[in-house]
Amino acid sequence: VYDRTPLIAGNWKMNLDHQQAVTLVQKLSWILTDADHDFEKVEVAVFPPFTDLRSVQTLVAGDRLPLMYGAQDVSAEESGAFTGEISAQFLSKLGCRYVLVGHSERRTLHGEDDAMANRKLTAALRHGLAPILCVGEGLDVRQAGRHVEHTLAQLRGALEGLSTEQVTDMVVAYEPVWAIGTGEVAGPDDAQQMCAALRADVASRYGEEAAAGLRLLYGGSVKSSNAASILREKDVDGLLVGGASLDEAEFANIVRFEH
Ligand code: PEP
Repeated sequence: VYDRTPLIAGNWKMNLDHQQAVTLVQKLSWILTDADHDFEKVEVAVFPPFTDLRSVQTLVAGDRLPLMYGAQDVSAEESGAFTGEISAQFLSKLGCRYVLVGHSERRTLHGEDDAMANRKLTAALRHGLAPILCVGEGLDVRQAGRHVEHTLAQLRGALEGLSTEQVTDMVVAYEPVWAIGTGEVAGPDDAQQMCAALRADVASRYGEEAAAGLRLLYGGSVKSSNAASILREKDVDGLLVGGASLDEAEFANIVRFEH
């Protein structure tokens, strides 16, 4: 059995003011440290807004906090006349380990497609960031029974032209759009079915080794009350948590799913 370190990731979206962001990082770290959480056994990462990243970096480095952090988006461009964009190099210099790519809110609200996700993945990987590629179907697709085919097409589109090494360095999050921020959570079976399909697809294209090492997350209305049952599934290696990551006690309980 391949040993994949579980990853619990908290996507704060456009929430919290700067002070609240700093306080949340501190409190989360205290709660988990007090509870003797083994950060090597279960990795924890937060995804604050861009404007908090410098302070999070200072806090994590200064206090040697065991948390990882990343950004919610990245530019596909290297540098230059791209007003408002944030480059992978900037994020890498800020100590980001991860970056979300192709989140459904970026796809829906900003028209990002698989080709754009592909360019962003490439930019992130070029600067040593581990992208977390988000894929998943909307309600209409699920109801039509085409969710596996749809999600695999997103995966293939986003991975186009990437090497096996590049695929090995990334994480994929299955986030059914109908479950994001709705309180409606996919059943553990649904999460397992999709994660197994994603892993099998990666195996067929990049080999068993790459597939066995690839971490697959589930996201969509995860709470401490449903986290453990989803994480028990064999192809689910972690969670991407939105709303429930804004409360340190709730998020810590998700992180400590085995307790
Ligand atoms: C998300 O934004 O990635 C997410 C899963 O949100 P929520 O947990 O609030 O559904």
